[in-house]
Amino acid sequence: MSLSNGRPYLAIPGPSVMPDRVLQAMHRAAPNIYEGELVEMTESIVKDLKTVAGTAHHAAIYIANGHGVWEAALRNILSDDDVVLVPSVGRFGEGWASMAESIGAKVELMPFPDLQPMDMAQVKARLEADADHKIKAVLITHVDTSSSIKTDPRALRAVLNDCNHPALLGVDCIASLGCDRFEMDAMGVDLMIAASQKGMMVPPGVGFVFFNDRAAAVRETVAHVSGYWDWKPRVDPELFYQYFGGTAPTHHLFGLREALDMLLEEGLDAVWHRHEVLARAIWAAVDAWGESGPMALNVADPADRSCAVTAAHVGVPAGVELRKWLEEKAGVTLGIGLGMSTEHDPKGEGFFRFGHMGHLNAHMVLGMLGSVEAAMIALGIPHGAGGLSAAARVVAEGA
Ligand SMILES: *Cc1c(COP(=O)(O)O)cnc(C)c1O
Repeated sequence: MSLSNGRPYLAIPGPSVMPDRVLQAMHRAAPNIYEGELVEMTESIVKDLKTVAGTAHHAAIYIANGHGVWEAALRNILSDDDVVLVPSVGRFGEGWASMAESIGAKVELMPFPDLQPMDMAQVKARLEADADHKIKAVLITHVDTSSSIKTDPRALRAVLNDCNHPALLGVDCIASLGCDRFEMDAMGVDLMIAASQKGMMVPPGVGFVFFNDRAAAVRETVAHVSGYWDWKPRVDPELFYQYFGGTAPTHHLFGLREALDMLLEEGLDAVWHRHEVLARAIWAAVDAWGESGPMALNVADPADRSCAVTAAHVGVPAGVELRKWLEEKAGVTLGIGLGMSTEHDPKGEGFFRFGHMGHLNAHMVLGMLGSVEAAMIALGIPHGAGGLSAAARVVAEGA
């Protein structure tokens, strides 16, 4: 006997829940890739992607996951032995850094201690010390999906401006785009990457690189950009809308067109507000449960928390049992902890993550939280009272 039959809820931090509208838009015969609807649709997709990213500049589409656009962005701005600075608050900063290293850059990884936000004074000191401007780019993750720490790109832009440092500011928004407020041009970001399968609500397989004219000028100084990753043909309508470096990702584009319609019909401010309220509902529940039990959020200050993913811990073996129970008995799948460990939990099995990106609403989050409370009751995990009412109150006030 299981209470999990019915519509499952994949509450991991990507891939996210796909809307029926997106799935239905993809359920169709293959289109002609050389002329007609698909070519015209690509033009509208590029325009709307820029709106979602908050930029008036350039958007390149790749058939690639997030790792692909990590590389795509770097291939266009780095020459051999260029120095990049990667202040990092979790596994995804480290991942982008090792991608940079693998293509021949000199990488300075600046890791901050687990669960601590980025210390801008430390970044500033490093940039000030770089008097002859060897550092070509500063790369950060807007939301680190392992720690769930959010870093404000405006703080980095302020540091670069204060130091009069010309390095490009590159931001990984793979987890955050369409969830946490992000406005590329207004935030002074030169280069931004995102992918289809998180806040954009489309299956994994398409990635995006957004860049401004400063980044485009750096591209001109790079002697060899590999043919596939070169962003120049990809932002040229004449070349690209039929080109895509090969066959267009036809069905992903139909899905993406629908997803962009959904985001823009709702309005970006409303999308960000929805994610913020739902995230705060999760935090309120966990805080209440943690009053007399082991469950706690990883990130102390709400200002440093993402509205797309929330990392938490509940100890061992409760962490593993909780996820297993939820999947088997309630049809809810939470994300595993990533990159976290302690002396008592060397494998990090007591950590887990709530994914709350993209297509989700109040009843999904309240249902998920109710299921978590049921799991804790069933498993005998101690927890404070009132978690669900605390979450309901946030939803009531936020609505
Ligand atoms: C998911 C994610 C990635 C990796 O994306 P893949 O599609 O799995 O390659 C990179 N950075 C961040 C912040 C992510 O959330």
